[in-house]
Amino acid sequence: MPDAQPHSPILRLALPSPLRRLFDYRAPTGVPRGALQPGVRLRVPFGRREVVGVLVELSDHSEVPADKLKAALELLDQRPPLPASLFKLCLWTAQYYQHSLGDTLSWALPVLLRQGEPAEARQERFWHAAPDVRLDDPRLARAPRQKQALQTLAQHPHGVAHQLLGKLQINKDSLDLLLEKGLVRVEVRRHRPAEHHGGWLAQPELPLNAEQRAAAEAVHAGFGRFGAYLLAGVTGSGKTEVYLQLIRQTLEAGKQALVLIPEINLGPQTLERFARRFNARIALLHSNVNDRERLDAWLAARDGEADIVIGTRSALFTPLKHPGLIIVDEEHDASYKQQEGLRYHARDLALVRARQEDVPILLGSATPSLESLQNAYAGRYALLKLTQRAGGARQPRFLRLDVKSRPLDSGISGPMQQAIGQTLEAGQQVLVFLNRRGFAPTLLCHDCGWISQCPRCDARMTVHQRSGELRCHHCGHAQRPPSNCPDCGKVDLRPIGAGTERAEERLRILFPEYPVLRIDRDSTSRKGAMDQLFGTIQRGHPCILVGTQMLAKGHHFPRVTLVAILDADGGLFSADFRASERMAQLIVQVAGRAGRAEEPGKVIIQTHLADHPLLVQLTEQGYFAFAEQALSERRAAGLPPFTHLALLRAEAHKPGQAEGFLDEACTEADRLLAELQLGSIELLGPVPAPMERRAGRYRAQLLLQGNARAPLHRLMNAWLPILEHLPGGRAVRWSLDVDPIDLF
Ligand code: ADP
Ligand code: ZN
Ligand code: ZN
Repeated sequence: MPDAQPHSPILRLALPSPLRRLFDYRAPTGVPRGALQPGVRLRVPFGRREVVGVLVELSDHSEVPADKLKAALELLDQRPPLPASLFKLCLWTAQYYQHSLGDTLSWALPVLLRQGEPAEARQERFWHAAPDVRLDDPRLARAPRQKQALQTLAQHPHGVAHQLLGKLQINKDSLDLLLEKGLVRVEVRRHRPAEHHGGWLAQPELPLNAEQRAAAEAVHAGFGRFGAYLLAGVTGSGKTEVYLQLIRQTLEAGKQALVLIPEINLGPQTLERFARRFNARIALLHSNVNDRERLDAWLAARDGEADIVIGTRSALFTPLKHPGLIIVDEEHDASYKQQEGLRYHARDLALVRARQEDVPILLGSATPSLESLQNAYAGRYALLKLTQRAGGARQPRFLRLDVKSRPLDSGISGPMQQAIGQTLEAGQQVLVFLNRRGFAPTLLCHDCGWISQCPRCDARMTVHQRSGELRCHHCGHAQRPPSNCPDCGKVDLRPIGAGTERAEERLRILFPEYPVLRIDRDSTSRKGAMDQLFGTIQRGHPCILVGTQMLAKGHHFPRVTLVAILDADGGLFSADFRASERMAQLIVQVAGRAGRAEEPGKVIIQTHLADHPLLVQLTEQGYFAFAEQALSERRAAGLPPFTHLALLRAEAHKPGQAEGFLDEACTEADRLLAELQLGSIELLGPVPAPMERRAGRYRAQLLLQGNARAPLHRLMNAWLPILEHLPGGRAVRWSLDVDPIDLF
């Protein structure tokens, strides 16, 4: 049957829906075909809601019967808001992570664009004095405030932006009255951030040392085309200085720089350093930026009106008019991987983007991920090393302290206590690292063995003494601790093990003359608390800092000369194959915060596994020796980066439902493997998740492991559309994690 409306094309839209398909609509009435360019947004009816979709393609044909096909309501853009290059990146992302394109665009676009806000730089109101106004106008005789406002406007022949009225002490009500009288006029025009003029540097650069210079020159030589560089520089070796000088060269070449940093590093310290150095327009994109500011920054970057874009994970999706250089700082940081919805890895996507846009990318870290190191060893990235601390400080010394059969006193052994005492007496600071918040990881009844199990998870609740609670760190459940054992009624309930609260309490008793400062999520949640703590530390008096991995990032503590690591064993025992890598990165990062030229640091690691080969490598030969050892273990075990993983997770309210769904999924995968003749892929599972019940749901998982990416993706491309329709999936929440970074 011929199409009823041969001239009206079918619009195929990506909508914010988890379904991995496009949705067909008719064009809104009265919109000419020429206005329907791929990439423009349209408002459409979707179920009982209205949503904003992105036009992907036009078609002359739809599977949907003509009488069921709905019309789009409104065309929102005259031109596509998203440049083609970024649209291409989103397509790639959706395909690689096996995610719906519509939902991928939702993660990638600023929230206001998803809601239909115009994608043009903000129009701003400017106030002008009307031509030929006179300050002695009789209508102003008894209106001194209006007269003053008019006088101020008259001094600004180009008008005053509405935003600046407050700064100039102009009263808005007075302006409205003046407007009624025709004495002022308003003009709406585009707000333009100040154009760049003069030199790019607001502050002189430091002369680079030989290693820094070699690194910067290598990257500079690669400007103008794709190339990946791994800057492996010990903490304090001046990686940031290398970034800054490369950014200056990028600006001089008339290009923009995109800098990604981990969430936690986006403190004022880092930002100030960039802002102080450059006389340039910097766009910031991080979680504390409001929606309007985010859109403005995004538009400024897209339109070439921001020179430097700095942001956390999702800033990766900021369009750039003249891309010149991408930098990923602390590239090993786990916060680059999004753990919900679209499970992308911003570092990995940054590489894809650099290749697509044909620009160099610089990954920096003191403790590069094993993935990136392997890429460097395989010749895919150029490895640039900075081995010396820039300020002349020496590297800390590492000691393993065997605590087998030594009593631990709130987690602190006798020799560790002595070392802490000696350091304090010498007038120096101590950093005690324990990656466990709260007072104790569990509460135990000494009479019957009852433990404080979370009612919603297969996990123990942590004792938080300060807040007088038992708290589950997995689902957030909190309750008052019982005064008697819920099972046997006796009162001998004891906290077992030590968290930061307990270590803090014990250290206060052991060293009463010295301040003990705890730095973890609980102690720094109050606004300004962190700054206050750091202020105290910077003053330099002897004190003890106790904290979690928050201590590993961003800050430097030059007066710390002893780093006490209370527990390294978790990283060596864990079932998670990445645990040892994370432990090594944490130890090295924490250690790197300490010491300066005159007072080299010492790092003491308490462990029951003092002879563990990974720990021996790390402490005696350093991170790279550790990494080589760990890589050879991964290779032998067939683990990433030598194989590729995808994890299908499922959870449901009733036991067995998640596994039921995964069983069906597994059968389908087996069938496809045979049909597509894909050899080298293994299906591992389904198995219950390591923590089977979490927040009241039962969880299970199925792991796919392949020697190469391509066959794994061929399987997933065929598999996912089937999974969407499996009957077992109805009662189940499931998600696919391509390149998972943890297997929980
Ligand atoms: P990283 O980013 O590797 O941790 P930074 O760039 O923060 O290192 O540098 C550490 C310290 O050394 C900073 O105080 C920085 O000002 C200083 N620094 C960096 N490069 C030089 C240099 N070439 N000469 C002197 N000081 C330097
Ligand atoms: Zn009991
Ligand atoms: Zn819980």
